[in-house]
Amino acid sequence: MSVPYRLVARTSENTSRIRAGGVLFGDGGFTLVGGPCSIETPAQIDEAAAGVAAGGGAMLRGGAFKPRTSPYDFQGLGEDGLPMIAEAGAKYGLPVVTEALAESQVGLVAAYADMIQIGARNMQNVPLLRAAARTGLPMLLKRGPSATLDELLYAAEYVLAEGNPNVVLCERGIRGFDPHTRNVCDLGGALRLKELSHLPVILDPSHASGRRSLIEPLTLAAAAAGLDGAIVEMHPHPSEARCDAAQAIDIADFARIAKRVAAVVAALRGAETLERSERTLISSSS
Ligand code: PEP
Ligand code: MN
Repeated sequence: MSVPYRLVARTSENTSRIRAGGVLFGDGGFTLVGGPCSIETPAQIDEAAAGVAAGGGAMLRGGAFKPRTSPYDFQGLGEDGLPMIAEAGAKYGLPVVTEALAESQVGLVAAYADMIQIGARNMQNVPLLRAAARTGLPMLLKRGPSATLDELLYAAEYVLAEGNPNVVLCERGIRGFDPHTRNVCDLGGALRLKELSHLPVILDPSHASGRRSLIEPLTLAAAAAGLDGAIVEMHPHPSEARCDAAQAIDIADFARIAKRVAAVVAALRGAETLERSERTLISSSS
């Protein structure tokens, strides 16, 4: 008989609170992470960070090591991008999440990031999961495009079994047959994850849909449904984005979404939660 994912399984009403820098996931609020798909220049990530902070985002995202489908597409700045995002985050008081694509990059990413992202393509890369877990940093673990919920939970189980309890799960769309959206946003699956596990669950509406026009409604749906946050691709000049331009929103869009998310949380989760949520959304220092 196989042993179930016993460390990540939900055993009580409580969702685990996971801290990244000064930001909490799973505190009953809605933690909004924003930033570009890839770090491009110091000015670009600085402008993005300013937009996230001013708009009310809690945390800055941006990839230095980019997993691209084609080897001919921009692969990210690599190591050079890491100090850029760390500086921008520090300047605006935003903790930073960025991806490690390979075991060999984990130490480097850990030196600059407040949270390590393990991307969809690497969800079941066990040596990478273990190496990232051993840094002790919180991990944003994205669901593989063809992974079942059980497979995602077992991937998280590897991290907890390695002694690191700080995992946030992320639904980012699964492979479907219809080209009108980049992936199929499995909101029901994300909600089921919350039933199965005590770990916080957030939505990435950007990769889930691939379309700028769908980012706001999907983020609001996630907030209304009770997920713990969202990670949104935002670029100061979306048409110039070197990566995933079609799904990039701009700074004004981001601020509007943050405001509407706060209103949804206020309406549906009660006043006490609102207070926490406003802190989560607006302040990164606790
Ligand atoms: C990303 O967040 O930049 C990314 C590449 O996402 P995913 O791993 O979900 O495709
Ligand atoms: Mn992207």
